[in-house]
Amino acid sequence: MAATGSEKQGAKAYYVTTPIYYVNDAPHLGHAYTTVAGDVLTRWHRQRGEKVWYLTGTDEHGQKIMRTAEANGVTPQAWADKLVTEAWQPLWEHLDIANDDFIRTTQKRHTDRVQEFVQDLYDKGEIYKGGYEGPYCVGCEEYKLPGELLDGEGEYAGQKLCAIHKKPVEILSEENYFFKLSEYSEKLLAHYEANPGFIQPESARNEVLNFVRQGLQDLSISRSTFDWGVKVPWDDKHVIYVWVDALLNYATAVGYNENPGKFESTFPADVHLVGKDILRFHAIIWPAMLMAQGLPLPGKVAANGWLMVGGEKMSKSNLTGIKPQDLTSHFGVDAYRWYFLRAIAFGQDGSFSWEDFSARYTSELANDYGNLASRVAAMVGKYFGGELPAATADGDAEKAIHEGLAKAVAEADRKIGEELDFQGGILAVFDFVKQVNGYITEQEPWKVAKDDSPEGKARLATILYTAAESLRAVAVLLNPVMPETSQKLWDSLGAEPALGALADQKVQESATWGLLPAGSTVTKGAVLFPRLEEKPAA
Ligand SMILES: [Zn+2]
Repeated sequence: MAATGSEKQGAKAYYVTTPIYYVNDAPHLGHAYTTVAGDVLTRWHRQRGEKVWYLTGTDEHGQKIMRTAEANGVTPQAWADKLVTEAWQPLWEHLDIANDDFIRTTQKRHTDRVQEFVQDLYDKGEIYKGGYEGPYCVGCEEYKLPGELLDGEGEYAGQKLCAIHKKPVEILSEENYFFKLSEYSEKLLAHYEANPGFIQPESARNEVLNFVRQGLQDLSISRSTFDWGVKVPWDDKHVIYVWVDALLNYATAVGYNENPGKFESTFPADVHLVGKDILRFHAIIWPAMLMAQGLPLPGKVAANGWLMVGGEKMSKSNLTGIKPQDLTSHFGVDAYRWYFLRAIAFGQDGSFSWEDFSARYTSELANDYGNLASRVAAMVGKYFGGELPAATADGDAEKAIHEGLAKAVAEADRKIGEELDFQGGILAVFDFVKQVNGYITEQEPWKVAKDDSPEGKARLATILYTAAESLRAVAVLLNPVMPETSQKLWDSLGAEPALGALADQKVQESATWGLLPAGSTVTKGAVLFPRLEEKPAA
């Protein structure tokens, strides 16, 4: 369920955005990957007790959407409305994305502000009228440089192709309005230099640096050959280039020129999450637009790589037809959220397979994590009637667990919260889960239970308290990744009466040992990760 955003005042919110997705088609795994990453990042920061703003939305203008709508016999607006309400928003709800807002570029709150922004740049002399002819990819909605094109083969022999879409480009010649992007090469390079973390990962940063060092061309920011877009305010024969329109969503959605209090306490974004195919728009054009307007620049543009399925890239131009729901119906939503961040290093290309997902689900989620939770609950039930005993006989083995937890919390907080290394952060928590499993194997509580002496009872109580208290922390640490599972565990540990709602638990404080009080009612809750059914026939 999407959380409703409350108006933020005072200190600046930690502001994260996804790209606004193009509504020419339904969402695929790549879109879901980026959006889940942003959701985990913002949930993590909320559980640090910070003010957070998480924005996603849809990009609804441009020639490609106009053509798609025409091909489907509807107006572009009707097409966008249908996709947004029937595909995009339902998927984010299904995947438990807690976005604070959802902006659509056809909304008046956006289009009015886009016109004001562009008019302002025009009045400042940043925009001029000029002519341009060049190869244009409708898929990218972008003029290409000749050196970026591929030679066509087969059915496209003799033609030049877009390197991303592998489709022929069109030669467009237009009289357009241009933004003086070329004047920003040096300023951008100075900014990249002064802010080494501005573009992540390093490979993406290097690509942008190399591109800008060659010198930037002025950017055509209007189109007059079609009319599905925001009208240029001083010349209504032109619509504003869809990328300029789209990038401005990051400002218009948080009150640009409309709600100064909200704008100042939210803008600029701390992190723009993007696919690497749209890196240049975010790392070059967007900061140049902000510089021209005298607005602050975002903290970081973080590009994720391609998802590969059996070697085939899941990009917007090469769908293999796997919907996120095809996976969640088999593995469940939480395992889905976990899997892609766990299996693929964020920022790198990574491959996905059904077999890899199944194997990790069974070994890491069901065996390591799920079994630990069910064993501990079962033993507290069997030996203590479901009432969590106190730990009165802590020794070296327990001390190692306390230290293991502190290490896991510090590492996960740094990796997920600061470095966007979701894989590393998740592994830090799962290493701790493994450590607790090892602790139980070594301590053999089922043997200690046969010892009826007071010392034996105290040992057994200490072992089970240590395991349950470890799980209390794991529930908090994995809540941003797998909220439904963590809630089940929280309920099973009887944590809520003493500690309050799971969502209010602070990640840093989860390292504090002994928060779960003795006497808590531990119940054998729902199985966290049920055994998988056979793979459905393709
Ligand atoms: Zn293209």
